[in-house]
Amino acid sequence: MRALLVILDGLGGRPTDFGGATCLERAAHPNLDELAAAGALGLMDPIAPGVRPGSDTAHLSIFGYDPLQVYTGRGAFEVLGIGMDVRGGDICFRANFATVEEREGKLVVVDRRAGRLEEGKLLEEAVNAVSLRDFGVEFLFRASTEHRGALVLRGEGLSAAVSDTDPHEVGVPVAEARPLEETPAARRTAQILNAFTRRAYEALRDHPVNKKRASEGKLPGNALLLRGAAIMPRLVPVTETYGIRAACIAGGALYKGVAKLAGMEVLPVAGATGDLKTDLRAKARAALEALQAFDLVFVHIKGTDNAGHDGDAEGKKAFIERVDREFFGELLLRLPQELHLCVSGDHTTPPAVREHTADPVPALFFGPAVRPDRTRTFGERAAGEGGLGRFSGRLLPQLLGYCDFGGKFGA
Ligand SMILES: [Zn+2]
Repeated sequence: MRALLVILDGLGGRPTDFGGATCLERAAHPNLDELAAAGALGLMDPIAPGVRPGSDTAHLSIFGYDPLQVYTGRGAFEVLGIGMDVRGGDICFRANFATVEEREGKLVVVDRRAGRLEEGKLLEEAVNAVSLRDFGVEFLFRASTEHRGALVLRGEGLSAAVSDTDPHEVGVPVAEARPLEETPAARRTAQILNAFTRRAYEALRDHPVNKKRASEGKLPGNALLLRGAAIMPRLVPVTETYGIRAACIAGGALYKGVAKLAGMEVLPVAGATGDLKTDLRAKARAALEALQAFDLVFVHIKGTDNAGHDGDAEGKKAFIERVDREFFGELLLRLPQELHLCVSGDHTTPPAVREHTADPVPALFFGPAVRPDRTRTFGERAAGEGGLGRFSGRLLPQLLGYCDFGGKFGA
């Protein structure tokens, strides 16, 4: 048995998106309809009815974890997502290159994004050359896109109960990190962050990249602002819970990160960009190939959510049609016999709202063990009439259940 979980980010919609219908209902998707007719549908509340989910918490829930128990904040998940070597217990921060000016010994923020500089990668090494060994801790810094990056602090006696060094405004000094609880670990972590701020500034101030930027009249990236401290949780990997080999195919960093945290191997796919331009046929081919070596393959497709956030109902509809034609078209050509498939979203992103909403998401299950229901098309209304009813999260445990993976609960 093999399992394939396909998540179309922000798939769900509202009738207000398209004059009485959702984008999924309005789109032509013959391949998904064929799967719906042969399989069964239901409605999934990503976290619980009425809870508006983030993509990270929704994915945890879909994978079978309780986000209310394990979620420690966006910082930790983004750090995983940019491919850093992060371990349970590490303290993670989101970081920005910023422009500061030294005034009376204080580092005053001139631009929180250093003019959205492009040279973050070139500054990375200088930041990582900063030493915090006198505190007995290690750290890792990684630049990502534009001015963005992430910092991971590793060592004994650290805490995520510290305030941001990002003052979230300009014309004021870089904020002093403060302990948010009365513990030695929180006090020590705040002290380390404040030392890091100063040492990073000293390492970046006269960096050739910044000298060059200054000579071109551009703002230098001479400081790092940190925010969103979060401790990396220790999750029991699905590979361990179910005794399976699992892989992830995704373009977006966050999804790769959550999958990695859940124990999946992230497979690189050329052309998987995590946006509307992604190569959907390449993703389908990669999924088919991965299904030969892995028991479970998780595929994440982001474009649906991007169009939803852009308020672009036509774009979301067109992207769903492309997913049907290119991804599922390719997949159905060579669909393995012993495959159980689940197609759903991680939440609803109606173009009419441009944000995630709490509405349940249609879910489709297909495979030899799935009892077919009477639904003939994949859509929100059809899912409301589906044989699987309405349930919260846990798409992955249900999918793996059809494959008979995992132990029995009880005697
Ligand atoms: Zn999402």
